[in-house]
Amino acid sequence: MLRLFNTLTRKIEEFKPLKPPIVGFYSCGPTVYDYAHIGHARTYIFSDTLQRILEFNGYQVKRVMNITDVGHLTSDADSGEDKMEWGAKREKKSVWEIADYYTEDFLLMLNDLNIKKPKIITRATDYIPQMIELVRILEEKGFTYKVADGIYFDTSKLKDYGKLSGKTLDELQSSLKAGARIEMVKDKKNVTDFALWKLTPVGVKRQMEWDSPWGKGYPGWHLECSAMGIAQLGKSFDIHTGGVDHIQIHHTNEIAQSEAATGKPFVKYWLHAGHLTVEGEKMSKSLGNYFRVSDLIIKGFEPLALRYLFLTASYRKEMNFTWESMKAAQSAFVELKDKISEIKNSVELAERTSLSEEKLVTIDELRNKFTSSINNDLNTAEGIALLWQVVKSNVPPADKLDLIYLFDEVLGLKLNQIRTKEDLTIPDHIAKLAEDREKARKQKNFKEADQLRKMIEKAGYILEDLPSGPRIKLQ
Ligand code: AMP
Ligand code: ZN
Repeated sequence: MLRLFNTLTRKIEEFKPLKPPIVGFYSCGPTVYDYAHIGHARTYIFSDTLQRILEFNGYQVKRVMNITDVGHLTSDADSGEDKMEWGAKREKKSVWEIADYYTEDFLLMLNDLNIKKPKIITRATDYIPQMIELVRILEEKGFTYKVADGIYFDTSKLKDYGKLSGKTLDELQSSLKAGARIEMVKDKKNVTDFALWKLTPVGVKRQMEWDSPWGKGYPGWHLECSAMGIAQLGKSFDIHTGGVDHIQIHHTNEIAQSEAATGKPFVKYWLHAGHLTVEGEKMSKSLGNYFRVSDLIIKGFEPLALRYLFLTASYRKEMNFTWESMKAAQSAFVELKDKISEIKNSVELAERTSLSEEKLVTIDELRNKFTSSINNDLNTAEGIALLWQVVKSNVPPADKLDLIYLFDEVLGLKLNQIRTKEDLTIPDHIAKLAEDREKARKQKNFKEADQLRKMIEKAGYILEDLPSGPRIKLQ
């Protein structure tokens, strides 16, 4: 049984999707006006782990992630400058160029961290008609009002506004007022009201603006995720993720406008990752105190050691990144890989022998413990501890490898790509030929597989097909 902490109910609940075995899953994506940092990495490793756990449990995950390329202002409460236009000005490029450049950077970070790219990636600027339609419905139902700055959602009209944060409307309003950073948009009725459609001010020419029934302008940031989520996953879907900073404003407003428009519950399970601080300081793009994965690489760390570090802590708690903790994670990860490499080396060439009753029980126990840990609200810290238990256990090497690879489907540390000491002498281009041959063989493309084998042999290597998979050796 999979159990998840649901921010909406503030409880750990049994996960029951609306239409099993399909799971509709939406992750708020990045605002692509600057480089992705390791704080983002934490949130996306968390949502990737959640997807892997759902798949481990046999669900078919339909996962959508957006790319915010318009409408996210420097203050989450509709004031300040559009982050994208700000980034473009800073770099003297067009907003579209900025969006492409930083989207690419973000996707590269996902790749470095072995984060599965969500099947559907939606760019906000591709969904403007759906956003306009949503505002139109809200207007028809009487939830909107117009001020000089744009079309606003009247939060006082929705009975359960703010339910995600567990705060009343009054409490939310005082907390927003207390965060004095927020300058109130002129004529806004309630401090919690938010922009659905921002109008381009008279005399201003924005790089990104669209015609609408209310005039030229651009969508509000919250509206974007509602429109894309509904377009791809329907009016109600299972899971929505993001960082904790999104609970009080962004996700609260997504719920408000979606439920006001459709009359249906928007999302069943809301999950949020705790923030990453750096050496005790809040980290954000706007403060400029952030590290990228490439900064870790320059300092000699492996990106997957960062993944390892994040997996050793609870995703819900705030985490403080220090170079000390990064070093410790890197050495633990290297040691783990060395041990697995030794296990691979000791796997006999012969078929595996049958297991004693006692060993079978141990294997079952380890597998079951792992499953219940990860199914207990993503307890990956316990999962990593169990991985070490497997490595150190008296289970025969071939069965150890089976368990390690199984656990790694969830942990995503690429443990099945660890080379043995013998493999290490194999140059990359030969390893790649062997990989391609294996792919060809799996696709029953035997002619190509045979040609690739011949190329490997011509280069002076032997390819052996062992029970544990192919192995290359020098001739
Ligand atoms: P943004 O590009 O700022 O919209 O952020 C994209 C996602 O990364 C959101 O879900 C944020 O909550 C998350 N995020 C941003 N900064 C951090 C951080 N320091 N730690 C963890 N998650 C973060
Ligand atoms: Zn969002």
